[in-house]
Amino acid sequence: MAYLSLQGINKIYPNGFHAVHDFNLDIEQGEFIVFVGPSGCGKSTTLRMIAGLENISKGEFNINGKRANEKGPREREVAMVFQSYALYPHLSVYDNMAFGLSLQGVDDDVIEQKVMETAKILGLTDYLDRKPRALSGGQRQRVAVGRAIIRKVGIFLMDEPLSNLDAKQRVTMRSEITDIHRKVGATTIYVTHDQTEAMTMADRIVVMRDGYIQQVGTPYELYFKPVNMFVAGFIGEPPMNFITSTVKNGALEIGGATLALNNVLAADKLAAYEGKKLALGFRPEAIELGAQENSYVLDAEVELTELLGDNTNVYIDMDGIKSILKVDPHDTPKMDTKVQFSIPFKSVYLFDGETEKVIDTNFDHE
Ligand code: ATP
Repeated sequence: MAYLSLQGINKIYPNGFHAVHDFNLDIEQGEFIVFVGPSGCGKSTTLRMIAGLENISKGEFNINGKRANEKGPREREVAMVFQSYALYPHLSVYDNMAFGLSLQGVDDDVIEQKVMETAKILGLTDYLDRKPRALSGGQRQRVAVGRAIIRKVGIFLMDEPLSNLDAKQRVTMRSEITDIHRKVGATTIYVTHDQTEAMTMADRIVVMRDGYIQQVGTPYELYFKPVNMFVAGFIGEPPMNFITSTVKNGALEIGGATLALNNVLAADKLAAYEGKKLALGFRPEAIELGAQENSYVLDAEVELTELLGDNTNVYIDMDGIKSILKVDPHDTPKMDTKVQFSIPFKSVYLFDGETEKVIDTNFDHE
């Protein structure tokens, strides 16, 4: 039996807007789950239904095998960390963390012990006397996390907790939060629109779009085995490139090259796509420069290069189709020249041009 179970969950707001459709998910105790997707896809709405801050329009939500739809936020034993830290500005770090426990009437010496213990986990011991305004963004965020974990609840919900931090602080807090999760072990659901946060923190990721789950899987599964073009394009940075065209004589024609699809697709499937649209997907990092064996070899115009240090992003154009290649910085081509590159057959993804669903190729992307 799963610890948290969401079955056929729907949210229809009072104005009639259907924000979440048939959301099904089982979450095991101690799992770190990340909901990811573009703005407005229903991540926060789903989290708020789990927290008990929004009612569930249809479906069943169980905690530990018991129906929880009608339970209030307190009864659900959840702690939530929001994007805005929501700290009390006039209280010290110590009192901000102690506040919830004092309200519950916990003894002062127990509170002190818990605050000290939590401050130690979060590296806040030296800041307990300070007011929030005298802390950096990252430290404030840690206090907000501390206030939530001090209650030792079973379920920890976080809604874009790092979005107010600068890029460097985000990277640090990312690993701090996964570290805290390892120490505290609470089941965690974390909402973000940032695929890097999802990939680096999650045990399993739930990718959402327009209120629908697109795919649930480990970071590895989502990167290597996306079920559709949306997931393939959302996970990975820079995103997967797509070349969409109509299949003619068993091939896609692009930038003067003929990509014979029998190299990657079984004959019966290929026959079924004759005259239909297919999207060929390849990751920027999956290519090799020059003409290689067992690969599609393509020529392109180099429009722009971006040296990032460990690699260079090369923005290319193939008869109007734009793509990005990731190359070793030492191999950076010059702008406004031509570049030849190869996509190994084993790295090629194919998607149905109509449904956008992945088509199984001859290679299984392990
Ligand atoms: P973001 O990353 O921007 O926070 P999200 O994926 O968390 O996006 P939600 O906040 O869950 O998205 O919103 C999902 C959809 O529901 C959006 O289209 C939003 O406009 C709509 N919505 C949210 N709250 C309400 C409300 N109270 N009444 C009507 N529609 C709402």
